[in-house]
Amino acid sequence: MKILDGKILAQNVKDELRKEVFSLKAKTGSVPVLKNVIVGDDHASCAYANSQKKVAEYIGIDYALEIIPRDIAQNDFEEVIKRLNADKRVNGIMIHKPLPEHFDYSEVANYVDMAKDLEGINVANIGRMILGETKIIPCTPASVMEHLRSTGIDLRGREVVVVGHSTIVGKPLSLLLLRQMATVTVCHVATSESGKLVDHVSRADIVVVAVGSPALIKGEWIKEGAVVIDVGINRVDGKIVGDVEFESASQKASFITPVPGGVGPVTVVMLMRNGIEAFKAQNRIV
Ligand code: NAD
Repeated sequence: MKILDGKILAQNVKDELRKEVFSLKAKTGSVPVLKNVIVGDDHASCAYANSQKKVAEYIGIDYALEIIPRDIAQNDFEEVIKRLNADKRVNGIMIHKPLPEHFDYSEVANYVDMAKDLEGINVANIGRMILGETKIIPCTPASVMEHLRSTGIDLRGREVVVVGHSTIVGKPLSLLLLRQMATVTVCHVATSESGKLVDHVSRADIVVVAVGSPALIKGEWIKEGAVVIDVGINRVDGKIVGDVEFESASQKASFITPVPGGVGPVTVVMLMRNGIEAFKAQNRIV
């Protein structure tokens, strides 16, 4: 069994992106400029933004944070984003969550121009992703795909079971896997309710779990030699754990991601990759 170490993978991808930014700078005289917007002073958002800033600086990306007062009206906030959309110096924009309760998130998610949508989550980008017409991919699914790529396993014809069908992880991931010609099954809460989760998981060559429920996936369910990617983040007795019973699953898996230190560290690097792709598309660089 091999542990898929997210920190090592993140470092490798960061080094590749750093080289790419260096050559983009030589070609265009500029580097990608990313704007991150936090509404209010949410502690977790600020911590996440700080870790993004460090990654961006390492890669050579220009990263700036804009903090907006929490009591801003939603239509005034829309104007802030429109201003950033119109600013030719800004290549990518991310709006941090959580947003104030008086905001309608489904509307806010689409304020960012699709060409600058760092998270790849606006409606137009999801549509373009289905058609295979964009390189801007939602970050967590992109991290999972990067982990799978690092195993060297060809996904064509593999039985992949994705547990969790959220808009930010499970659904876009299932589409990315389909693009690689995997045979994809998506399970969710109703699969568990019908008692069939174990049947699906136990026949999978690759299992990706993104639920948010500690030890949901039992080690004994994992097929011998399967790849296990655990996206879940749960706090149990002050410790961060995933959705998979790590110790017992490790006995069966050929590759497995730890939590923490698996999918998470690569996710933030994928945001930077989206920023670079946005820059290239805006500068018509293939
Ligand atoms: P979500 O709450 O939006 O969706 C949860 C999904 O799990 C749904 O599809 C739901 O039907 C399914 N589900 C719930 N109970 C289930 C059960 N008993 N059996 C089978 N399926 C069940 O969650 P999300 O935003 O996709 O996040 C999922 C997990 O991934 C969370 O722990 C979150 O913290 C983590 N996460 C990690 C990263 C990262 O970069 N590492 C990024 C995003 C989310």
